[in-house]
Amino acid sequence: MSITIESLISESHQTATAKGWWDDPNRNVGELLALIHSEVSEALEVYRVKGKDSLNENWLGDKGKPEGFTVELADVIIRIADFCGEFGLDLEESLTAKLAYNRTRPYRHGDKKA
Ligand SMILES: [Mg+2]
Repeated sequence: MSITIESLISESHQTATAKGWWDDPNRNVGELLALIHSEVSEALEVYRVKGKDSLNENWLGDKGKPEGFTVELADVIIRIADFCGEFGLDLEESLTAKLAYNRTRPYRHGDKKA
């Protein structure tokens, strides 16, 4: 199965909408961004508990729910895609532009430490 950015956004937003997450048309953008953060924090928690050697280890939790570090990274992407779907944002264009720009940047972006 191959996923395009367009299909990722479409499926993520269709599923979130069908599950009622967009019943309130006035969801707070700051809160939505915080929910993206929360998935990064869940990935951090998996890392803290399982360690670096288990980053690619996934398992099934309650009711067959996929769990693991990369699953939490997937949640980050799904939440971003859902957000882009709701607001009609062209993530593919921005990804293309930023990836191309990054290729032109100097080693370590000049003198950055991190
Ligand atoms: Mg999660």
